[in-house]
Amino acid sequence: MPDFAESTKEQTIRAYLHYFAETEIRPRSLEADRMADIQPDFYSVLDRAGISTEMMPRDPGSPRPAEGGKTEPQTLRTAVLASEELSWGDASFMLSLPGPGLGGPPVSFIGTPEQRERFFAVFQDRSRPHFGAYALTEPEAGSDVAGIRARCEEVPGGFRITGTKTFITNGSRADWVVVFATVDPELGRAGHRTFVVERGREGFSVGRKHHKLGLRASDTAELVFQDCFVPEENLLGGRAHYERQLSQEGFKVAMATFDSTRPLVAAMAVGIARAAAERTRELVQERYMLGRALPRYRALEESLDDMDRRVRAARLLTWKSAYLADARQPQSRAASMAKAYAGSQAVQICREALELTADSGEQPDALLEKWFRDIRVFDLFEGTAQVQRLVVARRLFDEIGAKVGL
Ligand SMILES: Cc1cc2nc3c(=O)[nH]c(=O)nc-3n(C[C@H](O)[C@H](O)[C@H](O)COP(=O)(O)OP(=O)(O)OC[C@H]3O[C@@H](n4cnc5c(N)ncnc54)[C@H](O)[C@@H]3O)c2cc1C
Repeated sequence: MPDFAESTKEQTIRAYLHYFAETEIRPRSLEADRMADIQPDFYSVLDRAGISTEMMPRDPGSPRPAEGGKTEPQTLRTAVLASEELSWGDASFMLSLPGPGLGGPPVSFIGTPEQRERFFAVFQDRSRPHFGAYALTEPEAGSDVAGIRARCEEVPGGFRITGTKTFITNGSRADWVVVFATVDPELGRAGHRTFVVERGREGFSVGRKHHKLGLRASDTAELVFQDCFVPEENLLGGRAHYERQLSQEGFKVAMATFDSTRPLVAAMAVGIARAAAERTRELVQERYMLGRALPRYRALEESLDDMDRRVRAARLLTWKSAYLADARQPQSRAASMAKAYAGSQAVQICREALELTADSGEQPDALLEKWFRDIRVFDLFEGTAQVQRLVVARRLFDEIGAKVGL
């Protein structure tokens, strides 16, 4: 039976990150949204605090790897806890943490020891922030991952990649990008190959930056590959890896990444929903204390309780998926369930927050309005809500089939 009580150490990490979110992220949040960028001074503050996706969550008292010390083992459970707290501050800042980001899991999962060392080495340099990215989505292939069209053609010494990737988080500032391409679109999933492409390679350029409804301060860009030569040693896992499996390995890597990152995305949604629920409570109480008539006070109270309950339920599903991952148990269904539930509940909670606080058509509270825009994408990226439900339904049917011997 999983133990969902927070350990003393987890409480310390949560308190540390909450303090950081409250004092360093929230005060910058609205300005960053207006500028559609993160204030540059934030990165030195972040570095001093020792927070990045690579080492998050670092025990506040523990030494840094750069100082020759050992970090605590990273668990998904503490990572989701950190993800919720930082997103409570602002989810765009959470997505903009330096580190390999979504690009990290594929390199860890199938990269050779040499590749892992080479590609992760850059994050040891603390003179400026470094980023990794993950490029799967294309203008014509989002949910339908098997339908990617970016081509990788074999040439002496490596491959040439041609194609366009779209909506890539941290795409315009990444030091390297994990790119999924196909040797032949007709082969479907079996044709997929996974590469790491470094910034500055000839034929690799950043296209337009996407202007978004929400998460505006998070960098989202189009990446263009035009006959971009990538050496053999950048094929993740090496050639033998794909030959051995004959195989859907490239596709499996793309999907395994989501199994480990969906709980983090679910935790981000929980963080935003919690922020919106708390802010709504504050605003409602402020009005009540001011003595303004609130004829629907009882209904309001029930709505606030209901928001709180749904935040807690979403958090439990998220923790369950993290618990399974840490216990090395299958968690694809749990991860999809957490993401689908947390995302859709958070969208509803942010909408209700606006309705409860600005129902007379007044200018809404600026933070609530921002979170209402930010949360929209949580039903979309890393697999849309509909697709998560399909994953959950498939797993259910698999279980039923196994029971009745199908
Ligand atoms: C802010 C942001 C950041 C992102 N970051 C990244 C990133 O770092 N790397 C990356 O590779 N991608 C990234 N994406 C892309 C994101 O993962 C895709 O947008 C997402 O997978 C959906 O793809 P799509 O937009 O093409 O929509 P589509 O797949 O075209 O879906 C459109 C609609 O159809 C529904 N639909 C599709 N297929 C089915 C089905 N089989 N059954 C039922 N309904 C279905 C969907 O649920 C959706 O409502 C990002 C997107 C955003 C907005």
